Amino acid sequence: MKSCLASLLIVVFSGGGAHTEVSPVTAAVNLGDGTQQTDYEALSKEIYAELVTFRSIADMPENVKAAAEGVKQQLINGGFPAGDIQIVSPHPELGSVVARFRGQARGGGPPTKQPVMLMAHLDVVDALRSDWEFEPFELREIDGYFYGRGTDDNKAGIAHIVTNFIRLRDEGYVPDRDLVAVFTADEETSSDSIKYLVRERRDLVDSVFAINSDAGGGELFEGAPNIFNVQAAEKIYVTFHITATNPGGHSSRPRPDNAIYELTMALARLSEFTFPVDVGEVAGLYFERSSYFMDGLPAVDMRAVAKQPPDEAAAARLSSGSPYYNAILHTTCVATRLEAGHADNALPQTAQATVNCRVLPGQNPDDVEAILREVIGNEQIEVARANAPTGSDPSPLTEEIMNVLEPIVEEMWPGVPVIPTMSTGATDGNYVRNAGIPVYGVSAIFSDPDDSRAHGKDERVGVKEYYSAQEFWYRMLKRLSGG
Ligand SMILES: [Zn+2]
Repeated sequence: MKSCLASLLIVVFSGGGAHTEVSPVTAAVNLGDGTQQTDYEALSKEIYAELVTFRSIADMPENVKAAAEGVKQQLINGGFPAGDIQIVSPHPELGSVVARFRGQARGGGPPTKQPVMLMAHLDVVDALRSDWEFEPFELREIDGYFYGRGTDDNKAGIAHIVTNFIRLRDEGYVPDRDLVAVFTADEETSSDSIKYLVRERRDLVDSVFAINSDAGGGELFEGAPNIFNVQAAEKIYVTFHITATNPGGHSSRPRPDNAIYELTMALARLSEFTFPVDVGEVAGLYFERSSYFMDGLPAVDMRAVAKQPPDEAAAARLSSGSPYYNAILHTTCVATRLEAGHADNALPQTAQATVNCRVLPGQNPDDVEAILREVIGNEQIEVARANAPTGSDPSPLTEEIMNVLEPIVEEMWPGVPVIPTMSTGATDGNYVRNAGIPVYGVSAIFSDPDDSRAHGKDERVGVKEYYSAQEFWYRMLKRLSGG
């Protein structure tokens, strides 16, 4: 893995020597307001708008399934045979889409190259009209942004893949390997769909590697593209229930021990604790490369944490200035929910906190649990796992993948470097990596890193950035498949 990362540096530094063909200009549609859209931009927006109208949340699985059916119909309308588009799920009420764009060997016959998986997810985190400026389940274009739940996470990815499948097919393009689109139904909750697909339906989704539209992207600096991120690793998600119990009694006669006090004292100790600094290969490369786009002390600090062993003081400065850097540099555990007591006039018999941990790749969740118990420092308090964590090794950034991405980035955004990143969140990609298929997060959507609205209020994506990413995916799908 190390040698692969070393070769990545050479690729990154080599800049844009390679030149690839520029896509043909498609017919433009005059929108009547002075702006022009190509046919495929218009199609993409139509698909995107339809997807956003589905309130495809975990509590409404019928909407997730309807979104899956809608995507299937779009592909059929675009000329794909219904038999190549499966709706599959481990749960009958849900539906994930697996769509195969069949390839052919260049000399004819079945492809000799293994398929590539293209990932996105249909479900979204719920959004309430009362929290938003406007209806969240309606695509709106305002002042250069597309607004709506799922515009960023992750319906743009589906629209980009579906539109480009249709565009490539319209152009008579035949890939030299199968391209397998996988749109899952429950990425935001259980990830059961992707686990099922990689474990039980490997025949449908087996691939040499996967490109995940649900991660990666690009950073805008003062509105201009600055860094192109490829997600090659992600943290492990593990949640604990921390529970203090007590015989309780009448609140008119308090006893010295109290479940709420014991739990809150444990949480106070946790709030003051920081896990040790740990900089893996992907994070090291991320800081090293990013340092060239920073000035002053942050740039010096980034280089200092990229060295082994990482500089502790530099890590502390970076962490205190940025929750994101803090999360890249450490495993984190944070209290997210609290529940205690059963009556206003009774001593609490139970007090429970939910503590969500994000474990760095390469670290063992068992060790994190042991540290957590030590920090809590009270053997009377129970620590139990709420979910079984799935770890995954970082995906090596091979020359093959860099030779696909880097020339397109150079063509579309000259001078913008390709930088590997580790996601602090977790996606379906984790389970795909865990199943032995490397995953690269490449949404190709640039945004302001300090204005992430995924899961939040007034989620949005820049209109220009949306269409650029669509074009990027077009060129990437071709380069991935011999075009
Ligand atoms: Zn997502």
